[in-house]
Amino acid sequence: MRKHIFNAGPCKLPDATLENTSKACLEFGASGQSIMEISHRSADFLSVYEQAIALFKEVLSVPSGYSVLFLGGGASMQFCMVPYNFLNKKAGYVNSGTWATTAIKEAKLWGEVVIVASSEADGFTYYPEFTVPQDVDYIHITSNNTIRGTELLKDIDSPVPLIADMSSDICSRPVDVSKYALIYAGCQKNLGPAGVTVVIIRDEFLKNVVTTRPIPTMLKYQTHVDKESMHNTPPCVNIFAVKETLQWIKSVGGVKEMERRAIERAKAIYDYLEDSNLFRAVVKAGSRSRMNIPFLLKEGREDLEKEFIDFTKTKNIVGIKGHRSVGGFRASTYNACTMDDVNVLLESMREFEKKYV
Ligand SMILES: *Cc1c(COP(=O)(O)O)cnc(C)c1O
Repeated sequence: MRKHIFNAGPCKLPDATLENTSKACLEFGASGQSIMEISHRSADFLSVYEQAIALFKEVLSVPSGYSVLFLGGGASMQFCMVPYNFLNKKAGYVNSGTWATTAIKEAKLWGEVVIVASSEADGFTYYPEFTVPQDVDYIHITSNNTIRGTELLKDIDSPVPLIADMSSDICSRPVDVSKYALIYAGCQKNLGPAGVTVVIIRDEFLKNVVTTRPIPTMLKYQTHVDKESMHNTPPCVNIFAVKETLQWIKSVGGVKEMERRAIERAKAIYDYLEDSNLFRAVVKAGSRSRMNIPFLLKEGREDLEKEFIDFTKTKNIVGIKGHRSVGGFRASTYNACTMDDVNVLLESMREFEKKYV
């Protein structure tokens, strides 16, 4: 029986993605080959690749003058590639959570980092307000903080190139891509399996690449733009799966519909948490993520933590345990999460609450 999956990443994917990718793994079209076996240079695979790029551009309304890449290495590789390519003297970073902190650590290897704002002192329980400095090579933000459960939910105006890690909220709402110089996202939260990362880069921005140090070929954005993600063998199966998810997003109404669903799911969970006598929300109103919803037991009831996790298991719910660094619980409600999943979770929370309050 299929579980109600609230994993933080990898995570639940649409049935269509699972079904069509499974089929393609056995035989891709009528090629007599698996999508795992086919050459990435074959016309058949190139067509998959081109469809994935075209669908992504369409779904997220990527304007002309931008390149879209599918790379390996995860979002973590982008933590390194961004400063390696673009940190000349000084970069601004917003420290809004655990992943932002990791990105900052990497950037410091290549130049000066200005922490433009941080909510670290308050356990990252809100998205910090910030103004963008004028004297930095770029500003880096994390649009959704997967572990802490805060989200920016707007596309800011920036006087310097704006770079965003959108790993955990990509394609969950319409985005004004024209405001960004570069967006990257590991695909394993909203789009597909782990192992492929989407990068959207403004072609003009490539001119800002640093010239004071050599950049290894594989770490250079220009390499991947020039070779259309085919400098080396791309993650073919993953790209196929992402294409399927994009097709699904488009068929159900696009990112506008993804946003409507995300709002509906998050509202249901947060409304419950507001009224609950046993559970409480962690994140302050105004910063709450629609994708990752952390929650705790009320003070004095923390002893029930393991019991609740075990209880959710009996309800076919998985992935509700909070990140090991913060404890408590977290419901990750990415694109493929349904209201049925959410209702099952809320029913079990109500039932558990009745038992103990
Ligand atoms: C998951 C995640 C990462 C790390 O992604 P990898 O693909 O595992 O490197 C980075 N940033 C954010 C916001 C994430 O959610």
